[in-house]
Amino acid sequence: MFDGLNLGLKLGGEEPDRVTQSAGMAPRPEVENVIIVGSGPAGWSAAIYAARADLRPLLITGNELGGQVAITTEVENYPGFPEGLTGPELVEKMRAQAEKFGARVQIDYVVEIDVNGPPFQVTTSGGESYLAKALVVATGASPRKLGVPDEERLTGRGVSYCATCDGFFFRGKEIVVVGGGDSALEEGIFLTKFATKVRVIHRRDQLRAGAVLKHRAERNAKMEFVWNSVVTSINGEDRVRSVTLKNLATGQVQELSTDGVFVYVGHLPNNQLFAGKLAMDEQGYVITDKLMRTSVPGIFAAGEIQDPRFRQVATSAGQGVQAALEAQRFLDELEAHAGSVPGA
Ligand code: NAP
Repeated sequence: MFDGLNLGLKLGGEEPDRVTQSAGMAPRPEVENVIIVGSGPAGWSAAIYAARADLRPLLITGNELGGQVAITTEVENYPGFPEGLTGPELVEKMRAQAEKFGARVQIDYVVEIDVNGPPFQVTTSGGESYLAKALVVATGASPRKLGVPDEERLTGRGVSYCATCDGFFFRGKEIVVVGGGDSALEEGIFLTKFATKVRVIHRRDQLRAGAVLKHRAERNAKMEFVWNSVVTSINGEDRVRSVTLKNLATGQVQELSTDGVFVYVGHLPNNQLFAGKLAMDEQGYVITDKLMRTSVPGIFAAGEIQDPRFRQVATSAGQGVQAALEAQRFLDELEAHAGSVPGA
């Protein structure tokens, strides 16, 4: 497909440390077939399928290579890996698979998308500008913050959103984990490898987490639950010393000494690029139909940027596949109407 594209050399020097394609790669086309924005499971799956369809997709990673799964300790429920594997291992495998089939990877951060297309213009913080006939948006979601006093100031000084990254620093310490979902329990269990005590602070008396993690946490002697409670402030000068808790059932307020606060209270979609450009729901998730089409023809979305419900590695990967297949279909139709697209 698209053999007749007007290919041109990329203008300007490439910074070798930001470009991961192998040396001797083909010159960059003036108009890409498909650009995938985001490097979580949705992005890599879209890249694998688009690459296997000979579209030579370009995947722009974002600042956090691999997205949320890359900071996940253990992935035990992704089909095909009965022994489980770490999030970074899974991301590395997905990336290798995408590159094997010809996907190109650019380590850069998209700062602007012009949705008046196709072609769509994608601008990065590295100063690059691309045109693409189709886009797959897979920018994912980021951890929700508690929004309590001194959370921001003490981040990196005892407040963390990533057990894999920071757990090691809490060897022999007592910590709290905030949240009652799968992330809170999974990461809390991981943290018991280091901490002497992990207290899970949950605002209700029922966990949202699934049965497997719930039972595993309940059996873990280092874990304790503090029910019906919310953190109202995080305290400490140079580092976290305590949290103030309010019991929502009794109204009682207490200060609990702790060395660390790991926050797992859900996520917010990374939608900053699309404000006023793509239709979103009231929570800020990009709206897609069953074919992963957004409100702009030619722009598809997959993974947590458009999925407030399932948010699993496997579902995000599946949505990435769907988006790539539909992008391919869109490009076929575009080709059938060749001439109507500048640069085609
Ligand atoms: P989640 O399921 O949305 O859970 C968020 C938790 O934080 C809930 O317990 C919620 O309380 C609590 N919460 C929300 N806002 C809060 C606030 N302001 N203050 C205190 N608590 C607050 O998020 P998640 O645990 O990150 O999981 C996200 C998705 O990934 C889910 O679909 C989950 O199943 C999946 N996941 C799966 C696995 C696995 O299968 N191994 C591992 C990790 C994540 P309420 O319960 O009262 O709403």
